[in-house]
Amino acid sequence: MISGNINPYSKRHLKKSSPYPDVLTWVNEIRKGNTSALARAITLLESTTASDKIEAEKLVTKSNASRSRSIRLGITGPPGVGKSSFIEAIGLEILKDPLLKVAVLTYDPISPLKGGSILGDKTRMQNLSNHPRAFIRPSPSSLSSSINETSRSAIDLCALAGYDFILIETVGTGQSELVINHLVDYSFLLLNPAGGDELQGIKRGIMEMADLIVVNKDDSGLENAAKRTQANYQNAIKLLSRDKVKVMKCSSLHNIGIQEIRMHLVAMISQDKKAGTILKKRKSQRIYMFHEIIKQKINHRISGMVSNKKSKSFEDKAMFPASNLNELAEQFINKFFKSR
Ligand code: GDP
Repeated sequence: MISGNINPYSKRHLKKSSPYPDVLTWVNEIRKGNTSALARAITLLESTTASDKIEAEKLVTKSNASRSRSIRLGITGPPGVGKSSFIEAIGLEILKDPLLKVAVLTYDPISPLKGGSILGDKTRMQNLSNHPRAFIRPSPSSLSSSINETSRSAIDLCALAGYDFILIETVGTGQSELVINHLVDYSFLLLNPAGGDELQGIKRGIMEMADLIVVNKDDSGLENAAKRTQANYQNAIKLLSRDKVKVMKCSSLHNIGIQEIRMHLVAMISQDKKAGTILKKRKSQRIYMFHEIIKQKINHRISGMVSNKKSKSFEDKAMFPASNLNELAEQFINKFFKSR
């Protein structure tokens, strides 16, 4: 515990259980690269306790890391495709540059009670997690369905801590992929070598968002299948008029093709930085998030109204089959907004 003068009337004063006396000290520790300060801050962000949420908000406001030079990378793909193995491989490849730092945030859906996703990720990324310039933070399974504002703040805190590359692993082909795209600069979609059949299952939306498609496990006799899958996806991408998106192959396990992927990423970054597209994308992502937060807040307030007795008279009318539910809902909303 760091000691210091605590002004109980200061808005930045933290509650007693906090590891630091005030928000500024905490933020400075994160900025200095103190990983325990960073991990604790992410835990605070993920807390569902109301008082923790208030503190987390202060922390995020104070950290103001949005202008950072960190590159945010989303890694998606079906379970078992090798996302963790790929992150380990590409992470270590990036870290060959002694000036770079890598952070990894994983959102694994497997319940820690059932199989231990946290332990799973740690063992899968063993070399990376032991690396002095890497930070790995698995998030509890309950959060996997809600990669959201909290994740954006966690990414921002990693940026504040000076991580040059922030890799976010998400699972499967569900909602999380679509959401993560609003938080990252680039998304990589990983596929299995015999992934031709998956083509139907992969949601078009994810294909439309991927900045790079990677066929993993290009090894152990699967090389021909990987080649076919690469060609299939290259065609599929063309049909979506996204010719610029490359489909590459690699073996995360045997470290084949990883260097080429890193070089392609570096080339994309330098081109996009010159063209200003990264900044432009981040601005539109912030606007998207702003709208999402407004929707969440309105939803939260309306839910409160709907469940309290003010809605009772409307519910009484709604019970009758002859009532027009659309009209009633409209009247209820109008009444709600007028009363504000
Ligand atoms: P995730 O669920 O997508 O994170 O996948 P994992 O990284 O946990 O990998 C799932 C399984 O595939 C593990 O048994 C890995 O060892 C294996 N795997 C991952 N990458 C490769 C690869 O490049 N080649 C081969 N042959 N196996 C791999």
